[in-house]
Amino acid sequence: MIITLKKNAPADEVAKLTKAFEEKGLQVNEIKGQDFNVFGLVGDTSHLYERDILANIWVENVQRVSAPYKLANRMFHPEDTIVDVAGIKVGGNEKIVVIGGPCSVEGRDQICRIAQEVSECGADMLRGGAYKPRTSPYAFQGLGYEGILELAEAREKTGLPVVSELMSADKIDEFEANVDLVQIGARNMQNFDLLKAVGHMSKPVLLKRGMSATIEEWIMSAEYIMANGNPNVIMCERGIRTYEKYTRNTMDLAVIPIIKERTHLPIIIDPSHATGDYRLIEPLSLAAVAAGADGLIIEVHDHPSAAWSDGAQSLKPEKFQTLIEKARKVAHAIGREM
Ligand code: PEP
Ligand code: MN
Repeated sequence: MIITLKKNAPADEVAKLTKAFEEKGLQVNEIKGQDFNVFGLVGDTSHLYERDILANIWVENVQRVSAPYKLANRMFHPEDTIVDVAGIKVGGNEKIVVIGGPCSVEGRDQICRIAQEVSECGADMLRGGAYKPRTSPYAFQGLGYEGILELAEAREKTGLPVVSELMSADKIDEFEANVDLVQIGARNMQNFDLLKAVGHMSKPVLLKRGMSATIEEWIMSAEYIMANGNPNVIMCERGIRTYEKYTRNTMDLAVIPIIKERTHLPIIIDPSHATGDYRLIEPLSLAAVAAGADGLIIEVHDHPSAAWSDGAQSLKPEKFQTLIEKARKVAHAIGREM
């Protein structure tokens, strides 16, 4: 970290500041300039926050040299993390995974039927929301625990591991017992108490990017989970909010190489929530695979027009199957299996 002090900073203030950093276990290298004094801080600065240092009136500028995250940082963990989801490996050079299923679990018959369909199409895991974060309090809120149990039943019938969104820490026992991959939704990406709570879970976590989150904020959320003891985090890009109205969100594909360069965590793409439009799911899935994604999570429904949520961005099983066949060719072209 590089700290530039104001031109006329008094010597006793400079000494006080030096002492304060040294007491935090940091080495302070001072460069005396003609106009400014500059401190180079050497050591673990992850517990320092730039804005706190700027509160000192003699500090002109603070600049980070290293990223504020440690556990997620590729620099300290060069090899890829491979997350095991009930036997399905995600990340590294493992097979690219496909997660398919409805936005919401709508009942036992619906989830078991769609589970069977996505399984026949070649999906590796089943998704289905039982606790739904809806914009309107009047919209369908999910079947709750009943939905979780029905999802678990669909797993028993098909053998597909299941993914579902956890919205509050008081449901952790339900998820620990019934869900294979715990999704933290975009709206909860910075619910720090929830992140700490899933950090104590034994199940892997699918961490969606917040709709207005910077990449660094998103990685810091992964860091929260990891710092609380759970190293099994899969990142999921689901589009961010921009000025563009032709799509529900704007799918940011640049995050794939960036997350892979900055962190060692796997990253998967959700083109359904990123676009909101079933017509865009296939081309963007192919692009995501080409760009190096470790997986795709796609909403699939056999009657999209009757879906209880997100029908407009849901693929019918036939289209889902064609997508997988095409994406497999792209995967092979870049030397990966799918
Ligand atoms: C979902 O996956 O059903 C969902 C609500 O996604 P997001 O949190 O990305 O909006
Ligand atoms: Mn949805």
